[in-house]
Amino acid sequence: MAYITKSVFLRFSPEVVDTPIVYCLAHDFQLIPNIIKADINPQKQGYIVMTLSGDEDDYCRGIDYLKEKGLEVEALVDRISWDEKTCTQCGACTAVCPSRALTIKRPQMSVEFDGSKCIVCNMCIQACPVGAVKLDI
Ligand code: SF4
Ligand code: SF4
Repeated sequence: MAYITKSVFLRFSPEVVDTPIVYCLAHDFQLIPNIIKADINPQKQGYIVMTLSGDEDDYCRGIDYLKEKGLEVEALVDRISWDEKTCTQCGACTAVCPSRALTIKRPQMSVEFDGSKCIVCNMCIQACPVGAVKLDI
């Protein structure tokens, strides 16, 4: 049994606005949802950015449940990007990145981004002085 935390981007339509998805994720799948950002427009379309923590099998079942309910589900990491050309290699992001997705490669002392390790905590976006890391939501 592997305990995981993943960040997901959920887009929903008016048909599922009244579905208690956060409650179901917690109650039916024993996942811990943590909503980072959410928005809904007057047409009742919107999105939720959240982390989900729990057993990997429960996470997969929870994601299947969301898709069955008609939500579009994306891994949030697919929406984060690091622009090597904009990056000034100052290293500020590597000091705050908790998952070592952004690191300084030695001995070259160049910054590298490994998206597979990113948990989309936003720390680097706040730390970067030149906007080299972006989250497209
Ligand atoms: S969002 Fe930035 S600081 Fe957070 S894990 Fe991803 S790369 Fe690291
Ligand atoms: S904080 Fe921004 S400019 Fe500095 S190394 Fe990280 S991505 Fe590059």
